[in-house]
Amino acid sequence: MTYNINNKGYYGDFGGAFIPEMLYPNVEELRQKYLNVMSEPSFEKEFNQLLKDYVGRPSPLYFAKRLSEKYNTKIYLKREDLNHTGAHKINNTIGQILMAKRLGKTRIIAETGAGQHGVATATVCALIGLECIVYMGEIDIARQAPNVARMKMLGATVVPATSGSKTLKDATNEAIRDWINNPVDTHYIIGSVVGPHPYPDMVARFQSVVSKEIQEQLQAREGIAKPDYIVACVGGGSNAAGAYYHFLDDTEVKLIAVEAAGHGVDSGESAATSVLGKEGIIHGSKTLLMQTKDGQITEPYSISAGLDYPGVGPMHAHLYKTGRAEFIAITDDQAMTAGLELCKLEGIIPAIESAHALAIFEQKEFKPNDIVVVSLSGRGDKDLDTYIKHFGL
Ligand SMILES: *Cc1c(COP(=O)(O)O)cnc(C)c1O
Repeated sequence: MTYNINNKGYYGDFGGAFIPEMLYPNVEELRQKYLNVMSEPSFEKEFNQLLKDYVGRPSPLYFAKRLSEKYNTKIYLKREDLNHTGAHKINNTIGQILMAKRLGKTRIIAETGAGQHGVATATVCALIGLECIVYMGEIDIARQAPNVARMKMLGATVVPATSGSKTLKDATNEAIRDWINNPVDTHYIIGSVVGPHPYPDMVARFQSVVSKEIQEQLQAREGIAKPDYIVACVGGGSNAAGAYYHFLDDTEVKLIAVEAAGHGVDSGESAATSVLGKEGIIHGSKTLLMQTKDGQITEPYSISAGLDYPGVGPMHAHLYKTGRAEFIAITDDQAMTAGLELCKLEGIIPAIESAHALAIFEQKEFKPNDIVVVSLSGRGDKDLDTYIKHFGL
């Protein structure tokens, strides 16, 4: 039994590549080449060098002493918030821009919701010198002005998606349409472990540097290369996939996936896909997603833009169905409280996505000797307005 992908592109029952015929040549080219490219020594060297000198890796594994005392267990924070651009997303965009270069592509497209993935993509396009077009819903453009400005400063063209609900899913449709029309010169950088095979596997591999570092850092610090628990928030699932990756098949390491309950799982305003989702196909892969009886995708809700996604990647659908990972849903209020607690106890302002992961210490008890690693996926600077409004600061 493995919890990783099989050679057909499936995690158990989930995954695959359900795509329009017009997209087949692009996805097939990537599928045939990605593993070979990634194992080229020159690729590995360039990727690792950029992770070190540009992103600032390895990110620290920080023992959170005061937080540990409060919850009477050993809590380590994997500090992805200290990466260049403020989150784990840059690990993936660096990998994919190098992949695009090796495949001879000259034009990059991406979709973005809140703009975090758009900024990470625009950043690496500037770094390598490739044209960058980011599709973004018209409504998101209006409510995420700072990230739109960042993308423009970095040289990207931001194209509004004006159809449907004018948000992430419409931006994704526009990006797919662009890719169909530009199959030869364009690479589509997807921002999480979602989409048709090979994207979930490719993105998980680029993010797997996180669990590799956790092994080395725990060995040095605790004399054992694995924790008892790994905790991560799940939007599409890429920071979780990176933190779990090297422990997936080691069941001594317990995995906890934290989803956004929004106003509550039963409130009608939630993004807790594992509880509310059913099997279906979204963005080219078979997975769990929130949908109506007729199979229409339900609009998700969470206070954190990064968790506001109606599906999860196929790896996480499999981890849920097999019980390999425990899924816990955290409300807006619980996450905000945990986020503020980290500020006061450790002097770290977390992204609201990451604050969801931190909120589990109020929900679940750990033993004093348990080693619990939490993926601190991003920093909270982007969320200051939301913190200000929520707490009336
Ligand atoms: C985008 C984002 C997430 C959610 O994405 P995953 O693919 O589930 O990791 C979580 N945290 C931060 C800080 C993000 O920017």
